[in-house]
Amino acid sequence: MTKGILYVVSGPSGVGKSSIIKSAMSKLEGFSFSVSYTTRPPRPGEVNGKDYFFVDEKTFNKMIENDEFLEYAKVHGHMYGTSKKYIKEKINEGMNIVLDIDVQGALNVVKKMPKETVLIFIAPPSYSELKKRLMNRGTEKKEDLIIRLNDAKWELSKINEFDYLIVNEELKEAINQLISIFIAEQIKTERVTEHLGRYSFFKIEEE
Ligand code: 5GP
Repeated sequence: MTKGILYVVSGPSGVGKSSIIKSAMSKLEGFSFSVSYTTRPPRPGEVNGKDYFFVDEKTFNKMIENDEFLEYAKVHGHMYGTSKKYIKEKINEGMNIVLDIDVQGALNVVKKMPKETVLIFIAPPSYSELKKRLMNRGTEKKEDLIIRLNDAKWELSKINEFDYLIVNEELKEAINQLISIFIAEQIKTERVTEHLGRYSFFKIEEE
C-alpha cells in the first residue's frame, strides 16, 4: 500500500498557521490532522481532543518516559508533543497527515522520517506585521507575547531548512499555496512510480 505523506507546517506564533491549515484541509480529502499533547492551559473555546490533548506535566513526563512521542519540545514555556503511534499507524495506512508544530519539532521530525516528511514554513511579510497580528489576536498575556516574539527571531532564522516557504501576506493566497503543495507532493514522480504495477503504461511491451 502507498504510504501517506507527513506534511509538517511550521512558523512563528501568530502567523496564521492554524487558519491556513484548517481551510486548506477542508477543501481536500484523505488528510488527517495530528492533534498534539500539551501542558499549556486551554484558551477559551479550545476543545480537548480537537485542538490539543491537554495534559498535566506528570502525564506528559510519563509519556516521554514511555517513548510515546515522535518529537516533543518546550515551546514558549510549555511542553508540546506529537503522538508517535498515531503518526506511524496513519502513515502506514496511506493517510496523509498534517502537523502544526514549532520549528524545533519540525526539524526533529524530518530527521526521524526523512522519506515521508515535507517541511513547510509559513512566514509573516515582516517582523513588525507579526507583532501587530499577535497583539491583535489578544490571546496571550504581555509576558507570553514577549516570549513568542523573541522565539520568532530564531524560528525565522531557520527558513532555509524547509522545503517550501509560504509568506502569509494575503490569507486566500496562502491557503491556495498550501493546497498546491499538498497536491503537488502527491504526484511527485518518485511517489507515483513507487507502485509501478498499478499503472499499465509501465508495462508496455514491444509491439
Ligand atoms: P499554541 O500554544 O499557540 O497553540 O502553539 C504554540 C506553538 O507550539 C506553535 O508554534 C505550534 O505550532 C507549536 N506546537 C503545537 N503542537 C506541537 C507539537 O506537538 N510539537 C511541537 N514541537 N510544537 C507544537
